[in-house]
Amino acid sequence: MKKIVVTGAGGFIGHHLVTELKQQGHWVRGVDVKAPEFCATAADEFLLLDLRRWENCLHATRGVEEVYALAADMGGMGFISAHHAQILHNNALINLHTLDAARENGVGRYLYTSSACVYPEFLQTMTDVVPLKEDDAYPAQPQDAYGWEKLITERLCLHYREDYGMETRIVRFHNIFGPLGTWEGGREKAPAAMCRKVALAKLTGKTEIEIWGDGEQTRSFCYIDDCVTGLMRLMASDYAQPLNLGQDRMVTINQLADMVAKIAGARITKTHIAGPQGVRGRNSDNSRLRQVLGWEPMISLEDGLARTYAWIEQQVAVKRQPTA
Ligand code: NAD
Repeated sequence: MKKIVVTGAGGFIGHHLVTELKQQGHWVRGVDVKAPEFCATAADEFLLLDLRRWENCLHATRGVEEVYALAADMGGMGFISAHHAQILHNNALINLHTLDAARENGVGRYLYTSSACVYPEFLQTMTDVVPLKEDDAYPAQPQDAYGWEKLITERLCLHYREDYGMETRIVRFHNIFGPLGTWEGGREKAPAAMCRKVALAKLTGKTEIEIWGDGEQTRSFCYIDDCVTGLMRLMASDYAQPLNLGQDRMVTINQLADMVAKIAGARITKTHIAGPQGVRGRNSDNSRLRQVLGWEPMISLEDGLARTYAWIEQQVAVKRQPTA
């Protein structure tokens, strides 16, 4: 049994990670500015702390062996493309302070959650994009401030290992989705937004759903259970360079909408509107993931979407009920 901290434990991935770490018998402290929205935490201790502040980070990382650093001011494309200053400022403070506080407290292992958003725009201009290998991150040209901040913190983690001997691990997520994630309000990501739109179409009979751009932009999507498994495997590994964690099956956003509609048994008509689309195409090259972890995500997109859709349809239905 280890003593472990998960920052961002009130968020989507952090909440699922805490649940799994508890199931494996560890002692877990969750830290976030908010409690999980949809379900009580399984953490032994949950601290409500703003990790932009150094003294809060010292408190958060005290007396533990491992830190999973997931706290971030983030959201889907709509949010990321419209809040550059806020994202760079807040996330830089969170990451500078959390990493250094962990060093000060003698934490043995520190896993930082980076993103596929670090990859250069110039490699992602086509829908049939070549899958991105870890080394493709340089020369750097991330699309948004979110990606630049992730890249800088990756480097900080590498240097903390070299200069201070702290074992740092770096994961680059490719579009993680699943139940208990944000599904409305502006920070939701494409799979959750699509499930919400399709659920609304099904429940109201209004079949039209809006899609940002022509819907031909491509992505790969990874289900949350695979993400949590990958995170724990990477933390236990001796691999200290950045590692992709995602699926390598690419679909268009139009295909994603059709898949969700099929799962829902709903008829939809797609209306394409102007909106932030991010890069034109993105996929994960999982060669190194397979080599390093001897494993890769295995839950199919259809299976993951079915589980996610069921949960979001229920959320939408509850919200539509008139309050007594
Ligand atoms: P999330 O937004 O659900 O969780 C992030 C959590 O961080 C939130 O609960 C938020 O309240 C918390 N937080 C924000 N500011 C804070 C602060 N000042 N102090 C303490 N907590 C703070 O996001 P998620 O999808 O669970 O993502 C987890 C991590 O993975 C993030 O670092 C994110 O950038 C990264 N990531 C996620 C994806 C994805 O597809 N979900 C993709 C790439 C990278």
